Amino acid sequence: MMTTVDTPAAVETFDTTDPATGELVGRFPVHGPAAVQSTVERARTAARWWAGLGFAGRAERLAAWRVLLAGKVAELAELVHREGGKPVADAVIEIATTLEHLTWAPANAERVLGRRKVRSGLLLANHAATVEYQPYGVVGVIGPWNYPVFTPMGSIAYALAAGNAVVFKPSEYTPAVGDWLVRSFAQVVPEQPVLQLVTGGGQTGAALCRAGVDKVAFTGSTATAKKIMATCAERLTPVLLECGGKDAMVVDADADVDAAATAALWGGMANAGQTCVGIERVYAVDAVYDDFVAKLAAKAAVLRPGEDREAAYGPATMPSQVDVIRRHVTDALDRGGRAVVGGAGSVRGPYVEPVVLVDVPEDAAAVREETFGPTLTVTRVRDADEAVEKANASSYGLGAAVFGKTRGEEIARRLRTGMASVNSVLTFSGVGALPFGGVGDSGFGRIHGEDGLREFARSKAVTRQRFPSVVDVTRFDRKPAAIKRLMTVVGIVYGRPRRRRR
Ligand code: NAD
Repeated sequence: MMTTVDTPAAVETFDTTDPATGELVGRFPVHGPAAVQSTVERARTAARWWAGLGFAGRAERLAAWRVLLAGKVAELAELVHREGGKPVADAVIEIATTLEHLTWAPANAERVLGRRKVRSGLLLANHAATVEYQPYGVVGVIGPWNYPVFTPMGSIAYALAAGNAVVFKPSEYTPAVGDWLVRSFAQVVPEQPVLQLVTGGGQTGAALCRAGVDKVAFTGSTATAKKIMATCAERLTPVLLECGGKDAMVVDADADVDAAATAALWGGMANAGQTCVGIERVYAVDAVYDDFVAKLAAKAAVLRPGEDREAAYGPATMPSQVDVIRRHVTDALDRGGRAVVGGAGSVRGPYVEPVVLVDVPEDAAAVREETFGPTLTVTRVRDADEAVEKANASSYGLGAAVFGKTRGEEIARRLRTGMASVNSVLTFSGVGALPFGGVGDSGFGRIHGEDGLREFARSKAVTRQRFPSVVDVTRFDRKPAAIKRLMTVVGIVYGRPRRRRR
């Protein structure tokens, strides 16, 4: 079945196709600045209504949406498979992880964002102080294609739970999935357009940045993030930028080598390597290097991409990415690297067979740039310290993985990334309470967890005078004695070491 959105005949449209077969999946309008603007204006009214429901009212609606989605996992997974190319089973995993966040965000929104008293400090003890986190209003969400449910929903679920209306521009490669999500939300919230869709390419995204939204939450490449930040700077619109990565795995001397190889393979090749927090580089310490490479190569050699249900992963979703993968592999081989699995011939398009490279120089594109294909580089290091140093020598800093028994968590904490999993891969993304986001070229701001809720709300601080102060100095008609009293109080309050509050 093809998805279409009702549009007047004169409106420009674009098609999405199944990347494996080229079959038409959907036809969508290219929304220009005027259409985007009017969508944002409608969202403005919806935002007031949605905020007025309060935490409990919104939580009820979002729970209903979650239940509806949970009942339609198979339908949505099939669409994700057709439009993006990933195996249905992978789409099911993606949706299951999304449902965890759609549960966590509304369940915790009031606790994290609701109004609470804070200490006003000894000097201002005559005032009561409260803080709360109020919704921005209308949030523009711009998404990528590689996880067309999980990735935008990391912003959408948290923005909605915080009380905002959302205008969502999915990737031009996956608008049908975006449209499906928005329509399903309208089934549980039919009263107001709290979650709306605009479709099109980069120009539609740019129009959304300029349409007067109160915040833009972007997930995509680092290059686009820079353009978005520049566009948003025109109106000082705040941005959340979730960008690319070059995630590393460290395999320490006491690691379970077989488990590490299994995880590296999944982390590197699942979804055809098109995972922002996918493993692209492995640093294995000398003591386990040979064993690790042998085990990884044996497991990788039997992986097969394809369109059928038994295939390990699907095609490259974006045809242009195949050229990037080919360039990285060819360059690595030209510069002295060796392929222990696959080689330049593995990169055919739309399917790319697994490629495992060793002895690749650290300054090669395959080690430095985001490949976004089913490839892994494995580098021998002296010890875990050298692994950390090499892993951190990257402009990116999104996620990471460590395999090791004794030093796993210590190594994970030393990696310059927003997240890390010890003795598994990608796990941090499925924990509702954990923030998700990067450093450096991987962007800034956080989705998920408490930080993810606060990302979609602005703090509002209020003080209320309860009784006059004995050191009432902030008035022009104060007596000179008032400042003397203040100095005495300063001596008493700040002049002595105080115990740290825990
Ligand atoms: P992309 O940057 O090409 O596009 C992302 C979105 O931005 C699309 O919706 C696109 O239409 C829009 N866009 C393009 N130009 C724009 C402009 N000038 N103004 C406004 N919007 C514009 O990225 P992609 O190819 O869709 O996704 C892959 C990238 O996303 C990879 O780099 C991947 O690592 C990254 N990613 C990051 C995360 C994360 O959470 N950090 C998650 C998934 C994907």
